[in-house]
Amino acid sequence: MSDLKWKCPHCHSDATPGDTVCRGCGAAIKSGTPIFVYFFILAIGIYFGSIALAILPAQLEPLAWIAGIASSLGALQLSSRIFKRRVKFTRYYRDYHA
Ligand SMILES: [Zn+2]
Repeated sequence: MSDLKWKCPHCHSDATPGDTVCRGCGAAIKSGTPIFVYFFILAIGIYFGSIALAILPAQLEPLAWIAGIASSLGALQLSSRIFKRRVKFTRYYRDYHA
């Protein structure tokens, strides 16, 4: 992960994961899992949890909760791997004539 480097498309400065602002031009750097994916992950957990809840007998209810949480954590792991290299540089232009 430490060998991962990005190049700012605006000023060609190097940026590393964890940087939130470009050192060269001040562009905002957004990396990693997008917010909406976390909602999706939560939905996966609820989905599998409710399936487990439906098929398991009542006395095994805690197992259904574990199944739901485990599937959420699995999806979280997977998404962090998928979005590891995702990065977006956003430069905000100021209006100097204002
Ligand atoms: Zn830059």
